[in-house]
Amino acid sequence: MASTPCDVVVIGSCNMDMTVRCKDLPIPGQTMMGESFVTNAGGKGANQAVAAAKLGAKTQIVARVGNGMFVPRFFESYDKVGLGHDFVIRDPQTPSGTALIFVDEEGENMIVVAPGANMKLAPADIEAAISVIEGAKVMILQLEVPLETVIYAAKLAKKHGTTVILNPAPVRALPQELLENVDIIVANEVEIMILSGAKDVDTSTAALACRPILMQGVDHVITTLGKDGAVVASLDSASKVRGFKVNAIDTTSAGDTFVGALACALTEGLALEEATHFANAAAALSATKVGAQQSMPTRGEVDEMLGRKFPV
Ligand code: ADP
Repeated sequence: MASTPCDVVVIGSCNMDMTVRCKDLPIPGQTMMGESFVTNAGGKGANQAVAAAKLGAKTQIVARVGNGMFVPRFFESYDKVGLGHDFVIRDPQTPSGTALIFVDEEGENMIVVAPGANMKLAPADIEAAISVIEGAKVMILQLEVPLETVIYAAKLAKKHGTTVILNPAPVRALPQELLENVDIIVANEVEIMILSGAKDVDTSTAALACRPILMQGVDHVITTLGKDGAVVASLDSASKVRGFKVNAIDTTSAGDTFVGALACALTEGLALEEATHFANAAAALSATKVGAQQSMPTRGEVDEMLGRKFPV
């Protein structure tokens, strides 16, 4: 089957998020009654891919899902936004990635992720998607699939001149072999602190904090700073890109929306600061609604927020 060409290719995780709302969080050994239960397609890879597709970027996701009852739900959520899934492999031996989430009345949560099929995504699966990778303008990576696969994908993209964005979450030490094949890291302040060893990261200290990461071969590091927006840093420049004032009620997927929107804007030829401005707008909008993929804005909503159509 011929695959659909794309501008953004996402290599990453697909999870089913299973959320129980409860009055208080349980303590170890306790059984308690919850209040409501919902299931939603999630996973950082899928969330970022959905964000890019919903904003109009031609996007494909390369991933592994299991063979269970969730699989049709995954594909339904991708089809809804036009996200290509020609390279999502069904793994008959393994359950799909699952996140078990408890949320209490205060919004505090406990989350356990059983990665399942995500941890079986192998370099050979990436190689099998070469036809979309070589034609893509931007590749997005996170760390919810094996590191070996992430490194393989970054190297392959680099070889074909595809811009590589890495969102290093869940955060861990990053080998040089990966960093030298990444163009842009997008990380929140906690991730930057862990990666750089900096004690304090805010709008005025982020650029300095990013230097140890930049010294290892990454061209740009974007630190996301919640309502304060983001700081874009390279070894010889830094710019603060302001956030948008919104009535934020749930920031669950703000980071994932930011990454997908950034990729979308870069495929349209926007410079990195302009693309970051666009991503701030999209991410702020996602914080005004509850949920992950369902809270991500459409292109029309972002254009309205920006008061003009992009690209300018
Ligand atoms: P994460 O969700 O990964 O912790 P951040 O909290 O830094 O990352 O949020 C990512 C981006 O989402 C920010 O750079 C910003 O653009 C947007 N954002 C997050 N929270 C808010 C908020 N309260 N108001 C406006 N924008 C927000």
